[in-house]
Amino acid sequence: MIRPIFSKPSIILFLVALMGSCIAAHAQTAPYQATRTAAEAIEGKVIEWRHHLHANPELSNREFETAKYVANHLRELGLEVRTGVAHTGVIGVLKGNKPGGVIALRADMDGLPVTEIVDLPYASKAKAQYRGAEVGVMHACGHDTHVAMLMGAAEILSQRKDEIQGTIVFLFQPAEEGAPEGEEGGASMMVREGALKDYGVEAAFGIHINSQTPVGQVNYKPGGALAASNRFTITVKGKQAHGSAPWAGIDPITAAAQIIQGLQMIIARQTQLTKEAAVISIGKIEGGVRENIIPNEVTMIGTIRTLDTEMKKEIFHRIEQTATNIAASSGAEAIVNIEPGNPVTYNDPAITRELMPTVVATAGEDNVNLVRPITGAEDFAFYAQEVPSLFLFLGGMDPEMNRAEAPGHHTPNFRVDDRGMKLGVQLYTNIALDYLNNKARK
Ligand SMILES: [Zn+2]
Ligand SMILES: [Zn+2]
Repeated sequence: MIRPIFSKPSIILFLVALMGSCIAAHAQTAPYQATRTAAEAIEGKVIEWRHHLHANPELSNREFETAKYVANHLRELGLEVRTGVAHTGVIGVLKGNKPGGVIALRADMDGLPVTEIVDLPYASKAKAQYRGAEVGVMHACGHDTHVAMLMGAAEILSQRKDEIQGTIVFLFQPAEEGAPEGEEGGASMMVREGALKDYGVEAAFGIHINSQTPVGQVNYKPGGALAASNRFTITVKGKQAHGSAPWAGIDPITAAAQIIQGLQMIIARQTQLTKEAAVISIGKIEGGVRENIIPNEVTMIGTIRTLDTEMKKEIFHRIEQTATNIAASSGAEAIVNIEPGNPVTYNDPAITRELMPTVVATAGEDNVNLVRPITGAEDFAFYAQEVPSLFLFLGGMDPEMNRAEAPGHHTPNFRVDDRGMKLGVQLYTNIALDYLNNKARK
């Protein structure tokens, strides 16, 4: 985590400018107090929901019981509910008592094929079939907390319809971790099935809990916050020959070795790393059968991570150019295939600036941190690609715990402290109210 040098004073200035006077400031803090009181009042319920979801995790595109649980809650609150979106997605629509804009709040619902080893009364014992084998299932990324927090925010907001100038769309999304092989799913499918367009959503907001950030802290990064992730394959075609006489053929193995080096030159020598970070990694290389046969072909698979869409395009172009030209220099041929993946999770700078006073007022000035981007990917990016968005990271680590020892996401001993959720409920609530009310004032 990187502490901001310039951001906090500028936030304070912005806040002061925004509030104008003490009276106005007092009028502004009252709704935050109301949210805090409401979040404290339902904290026990939110924790109970989370424990239920944690004990009953479901894999991507299989969130059947989770979806029912969410839909029942939203119906009880009197929201208009749509189910079966992108397979198991649930959308709840809350219309405020005054007309205005439309904002979406998103939570992802899926667990992972991980066997939980945490000693907790609500630890998961769930099992499922995955890729032809039985696996343990666990909420090892904290999506159970996302669902519980958003259910909590829906409850609070449904009781404050008088204050809502517009409409709040609650997106409970399946398959953030990726749909099973041969299936579609996740945020891109939600978008395709109208999760934003059908309601006229004009801004989207999401939160991800973090197991290595202390409870009470909020991390944000304007611009590219999480990387675009693209899988790619390079097939190097040579000409088979006896290992003792390489000149009789074209060696795709040495060409592949040069290409791998060349790809790192793109990052080290041709990418403006002061602008944003970028990564190219080869994760698998395959070719040949034995020591004295130069094979006909080598295949390698890798991942590209970028934080800026223009840089992404440039890197794609250079990968193609580097691989084909290096292969050609030895008479081989390289075929490059870069697959579409998650776009950059882009935090719109204007929305970030507009909502940061809300985040600061909700979490407390000392608890909001400007951080470096993450080269992991998040499919919230597909909403951010459609409408201006903000995606925040929320502390979920027991403050007594040592950050270095806190288990990471997707591990069998991953854990999130329940106390972190109260702030998440407030953030969802205050951001929705402030975005819509700011807009109405404009
Ligand atoms: Zn995850
Ligand atoms: Zn996640």
